[in-house]
Amino acid sequence: MSNEFEQNLEKAGNYLQRFQSTVTGHFIGGEFTAGNGKTFSNTTPVDQSTLGEVAEGSVDDVDAACEAAEAAFANWRDMPGAERKKLLNHFADKIVERAEEIALVESMDCGQAIRFMKAAAVRGAANFRFFADKAPEAGDGQALLQAEHTNYTLRYPIGPVGIITPWNTPFMLATWKIAPALAAGCTIVHKPAELTPLSAYLLAEIAKDAGIPDGVWNTVNGFGEVSGKRLTEHPAIKAVALVGESATGSHIMRQGAETLKRMHFELGGKNPVIVFDDADFDRALDAVVFMIYSLNGQRCTSSSRLLIQSGIRERFVAALEERVRKLRVGHPLDPQTEVGPLVHSGHFNKVMSYMDIARQDGATVAVGGQRRDDLGAGNYVAPTLFTNADNNMRVAREEIFGPVLTAISFDTEEQAVAIANDTDYGLSAYIWTENSGRAMRLARQVEAGMLWINSENNRNLPSPFGGVKMSGIGRDGGDYSFDFYMETKNVCVAHGTHKVPVLGR
Ligand code: NAD
Repeated sequence: MSNEFEQNLEKAGNYLQRFQSTVTGHFIGGEFTAGNGKTFSNTTPVDQSTLGEVAEGSVDDVDAACEAAEAAFANWRDMPGAERKKLLNHFADKIVERAEEIALVESMDCGQAIRFMKAAAVRGAANFRFFADKAPEAGDGQALLQAEHTNYTLRYPIGPVGIITPWNTPFMLATWKIAPALAAGCTIVHKPAELTPLSAYLLAEIAKDAGIPDGVWNTVNGFGEVSGKRLTEHPAIKAVALVGESATGSHIMRQGAETLKRMHFELGGKNPVIVFDDADFDRALDAVVFMIYSLNGQRCTSSSRLLIQSGIRERFVAALEERVRKLRVGHPLDPQTEVGPLVHSGHFNKVMSYMDIARQDGATVAVGGQRRDDLGAGNYVAPTLFTNADNNMRVAREEIFGPVLTAISFDTEEQAVAIANDTDYGLSAYIWTENSGRAMRLARQVEAGMLWINSENNRNLPSPFGGVKMSGIGRDGGDYSFDFYMETKNVCVAHGTHKVPVLGR
């Protein structure tokens, strides 16, 4: 065990102690509360031991949080953008101060390797700084001129909003959704995933410490079917932003129908990475490995389908097999670890079930395919590569959400496009070719919200982020986020010269 690993374990133990000795509660109207006393147990995927008890949000808890968000809305909306900017930048500073704690707690809660989680706090702070700086101009609209009228548009925050987040990168995703909502002038009720509640609690603490006014930020823990459901039904909540599974998006759309909520969904994917014969072999190989095996493959934009052109297939797959075999699986706090344990035993069992499904459907399990028993009771899966697959197999069609890659061969550009698009999903796609004309053609033809050409997933906060088909509705990033969290009002002013229609004179 390296020194750094030992130190990480010790520090994480210290940070986690408080969650073991008291119930992780909700944050409502500026107060931490355990609600009605009902709790559920939060386990770590490292060894299934408990990290403590968490308040199980009830309908009453959610109602209280929504009422707090509603009561705080007018003051927050009316706070000048420049002041919101200052406050949210201050909040980002506070995140950075607690970066180590956030990373260690998050790794133990969700199983993501510390090498990736180290950057989580910094990215979370960057999300806040980016949107904070845009707060002063969030309300700016357009001037649309006509001969005898001038139209101008105003934007104003839609109201209290519900933010529902998943367990895969809980801290980063919560900041990604909450930062633009607050910068726009909305108040929020956050419902974090029941499997990973700890970093949401830290965020609420930071909000209080940073001086975000009471009621502007509320957090309610609990299960999707109870607290999540109530949040999507509450009349005070004007919009719901969900990051989660496609099926959850459908539920939420139904639940929010009665109160006509505006919805923004970032959902699942089965994203293709298309590697042509003329690709830069080494860079493509690095990116293919990174985009499915980093973050335990629990990543919405992971490239879980490799479409490989027949001319380089043998050489590429052989190199890939070697790399996948060498991936270092282990404890998430070991700085050497590249792949950690999957978030929960239920999800682990789901991922493991695809090993048999792949074999039954006729794919080859070229690497992995089993549990890493040598690593103890944690949810450790051997990084897995399926080859000789076709796009009709379940491992090519269903989102597995683990360190599992399905390789499919193609001959022509047309075939690559057809296979890439033969899916219910459309979140992201990756294209590797040195032929720029072909890259441009595919950029138009491949059905996805986001395409990366000769790159792994590179993040740019002003760019639109989101999916098509079953992968989502709406876009985040830059001004796209403000469009969701704000209403646009058109004001039409006459110049006093046009002819007003005359009736009944
Ligand atoms: P999930 O859909 O099971 O849960 C997400 C959240 O929704 C949780 O907080 C959950 O409690 C809540 N929820 C569940 N049912 C609900 C209901 N009926 N009403 C209200 N809330 C409800 O997703 P997960 O398993 O936590 O996360 C993994 C999924 O998230 C994957 O499908 C992944 O692709 C997706 N994801 C998408 C993106 C993206 O940007 N497109 C990013 C990360 C994760």
